[in-house]
Amino acid sequence: MFFVVIFILYFSIFQTCLSDEINLYTTRHYEADYEIYKKFQNKTGIKVNVVSGKSKPLEKRIIEEGKKCKGDLFFLADAGRLYSAEKKGLFQKIKSSSLIKNIPSHLRNDYWYGITKRARIVFYNPEHVNLEKIKNLNYEDLGDKEWKNSIAIRQSNNVYNQSLVASLIHNLGEKRTSEWLENFVKNFYKVPSGNDRAQILAVAAGEAKLAIANTYYYALMLSGKKGKSQQDAAKKVKPLFPNKKNRGAHINISGIGVLKHSPNKINAIRFLKFLVSEEAQTHLSQNSFEYPVVENINIPQILESISIGFKEDKLTPVEIYGKLQTKSFNLMLEKKWN
Ligand code: FE
Repeated sequence: MFFVVIFILYFSIFQTCLSDEINLYTTRHYEADYEIYKKFQNKTGIKVNVVSGKSKPLEKRIIEEGKKCKGDLFFLADAGRLYSAEKKGLFQKIKSSSLIKNIPSHLRNDYWYGITKRARIVFYNPEHVNLEKIKNLNYEDLGDKEWKNSIAIRQSNNVYNQSLVASLIHNLGEKRTSEWLENFVKNFYKVPSGNDRAQILAVAAGEAKLAIANTYYYALMLSGKKGKSQQDAAKKVKPLFPNKKNRGAHINISGIGVLKHSPNKINAIRFLKFLVSEEAQTHLSQNSFEYPVVENINIPQILESISIGFKEDKLTPVEIYGKLQTKSFNLMLEKKWN
């Protein structure tokens, strides 16, 4: 009897120390993500409890809960947001040789790791814009006079745009980016509004000549998952990957970091490693139409077909988007990008 009691006691202590769960805070709302969590659970027996929401409220919650925070991981879209969470002290450093080996260095730092990748590129309607004219287009050219009242892009408070401008500050310097912005805003076809898909729709309808949007929105529209009318509109539009002849197209990530007070750190790291496995990378790309961060992963046919001529900017580390975010946003506002 004594031994049975000891065993039960030992077992329950062991269980508490190694509770088979992780608590994931995420701003991503894709069905594919939930399927991945299920796969991880089936494989390892570790349950993934999900707390989903927008980045600012989740950040606030983690800060307020402090040491009592039960969260293990924070999954965010855009490197700028990851950097902001890092600077607020939300993450702990994770050194993992397999993560370092699998994820290219420009898509991670010591606190967070890119899990999926997207490009923010130009879309045009071949009925209104000749490909010959734009095939070697750079982001820098979007300030040229010939594009006056022609460009569709969302507002400056959008973090994807702030990251794009941050990458220009990094590559061109503040002075040249400021001059570029001055001209670029004059080329907007109207006062910016709407999401990325709305910009693509404006080009499809012939209201704007060029749109700036993330690759996965376009692929989603083409796939029919956003309905027939968006699919038809997307078919009228073509992607153009800028800066082919130099640094390549602007890249951003969705990424994840282990929270500072993670109660299930070992399981959290196991989950991170699972996210960069071939199985998880393939599943995410097939369903969300983002690019895998890991090399040599099969991407869906739609993504393959729109990625001809895609040269990725591997020279600009994505963490600089966060470092330059405030500067970038202030510059955009100064140049009256609403
Ligand atoms: Fe998005």
